[in-house]
Amino acid sequence: MHYDIHIEKSPISRVSQVDFDNIPFGRIFSDHMFEAEYRDGDWCNCSIVPFHSLEIHPAFTALHYGQSIFEGLKAYKSINGIPQIFRPDRNANRFNKSATRMAMPEVPEELFLAALHELISLDSDWIPTHEGSALYIRPLMFATDEFVGIKPADSFNFIIFTSPVGSYYPRPVKVLVAQEHVRAFRGGVGTAKAAGNYAATMLALKNARKEGYDQMLWTDGVEFKYIQEIGTMNVFFVIDDKVITPSLDDGTILDGITRDSVIQLLKDKDVPIKIRRLSIDEICEAHKNGKLNDFFGTGTAATISHISDIGYRGENLHLPDPEIRTISNQLKQELEDIKTSRIPDRHNWLMRVV
Ligand SMILES: *Cc1c(COP(=O)(O)O)cnc(C)c1O
Repeated sequence: MHYDIHIEKSPISRVSQVDFDNIPFGRIFSDHMFEAEYRDGDWCNCSIVPFHSLEIHPAFTALHYGQSIFEGLKAYKSINGIPQIFRPDRNANRFNKSATRMAMPEVPEELFLAALHELISLDSDWIPTHEGSALYIRPLMFATDEFVGIKPADSFNFIIFTSPVGSYYPRPVKVLVAQEHVRAFRGGVGTAKAAGNYAATMLALKNARKEGYDQMLWTDGVEFKYIQEIGTMNVFFVIDDKVITPSLDDGTILDGITRDSVIQLLKDKDVPIKIRRLSIDEICEAHKNGKLNDFFGTGTAATISHISDIGYRGENLHLPDPEIRTISNQLKQELEDIKTSRIPDRHNWLMRVV
C-alpha cells in the first residue's frame, strides 16, 4: 500500500471502565485514534496513536473560516462476534464530495478504508453488542494553516476517532417546521457534511427547544414550504400507505446513506416509493384527512427515528403511535438484522474487520 500506517498501541485499555448498559451518546472515546497530515500536496504521517487532545494554533484557519468537514458511520458486531462496518465506501465517497465542495483535498478511498480497518480492528472490544448500540466512527478533516487571511488552506489534518453509543433518540422526536431560518439553499453547501451547516442551525434549534420541540424540520429558503430534512436525518412520510421522500435534485439535502439503504430495502420488498418534492401543505392536508400514517427520520446515529409531532405555524400535528407504524418498524428491524448478520447481507453493505 502507498500509505503506511504507523501504529502506537496504548499501554493500557480503558474499556473495562465503561458501563455498556448506560452509554451516554458521544461522550466516551475509545483507546485509539487515527491521524494524518496533508502537507505539500499529499497525505503523510499516517498513524494510529492513543486517544489524545490536540494542540491548536490560535490562527488555525478552520477555526476562523470553517474549512472543516466530517463523516459519521458505525461498526457493529455480528451475532458471531465479527466486527463489521456498515457501507464505509459510501462514507469515503461522501467525505471526498464534501472535501471537493469545501476546496479541501480528497482522502484516497484506499487510505480512508485502511485507516478504518486498522482502527476498528485495534479497538474492536469497544463495539457494544446490546440491541441498537454500536461503535460510532467519526472521521473529520480541518484546515490547519497558521495564517490570518482568507484563501483555500494548504495544510489539513484528517482524524478518525470512535465512540461507543447506545440508541440516539430513545423517544419519538418532535419537529418544528422552519419558517424563519434556512439550513441550505440551491448553490450552497447543504450537500456537504461541512461543520458550518450545523452552526447555522443552532439558533433555530435553541428556539425550537424553548417551544418543546427536539429538532427542526427544514424547508426551502424561498417559500419555506418544500420539505428538505431534519438536519441530522433525512425524512420519509407515509401518506395513504404510500412512502414519499424528498428528492435530492436541488442540491439542498444531504445524501444520507441510511436514506439510500431504506430506499433499497423498500424496493426489495416491492413497496412503492416516490422520490419527489413534497410541501408542508400536502402533509397538513394528509394529517387532516387521517392519511398521514407515518413520518420518520433516517440517519446513522439513530438509524430510524419516529416523529411524534410536527409544529407548524402555532399548530401541533400529532402522529399515530410508533408501535402501530408497520413500515418504519420493519425497516428498523431489518437494518439492525443486516448489521448484526441475523439476515444475509444481500447488497454487500458490510466491510468485515478480520
Ligand atoms: C449525516 C446527515 C444525515 C444522515 O446521513 P446518514 O449517512 O444516513 O448518516 C442527514 N442529514 C444531514 C444534514 C446529515 O449531516
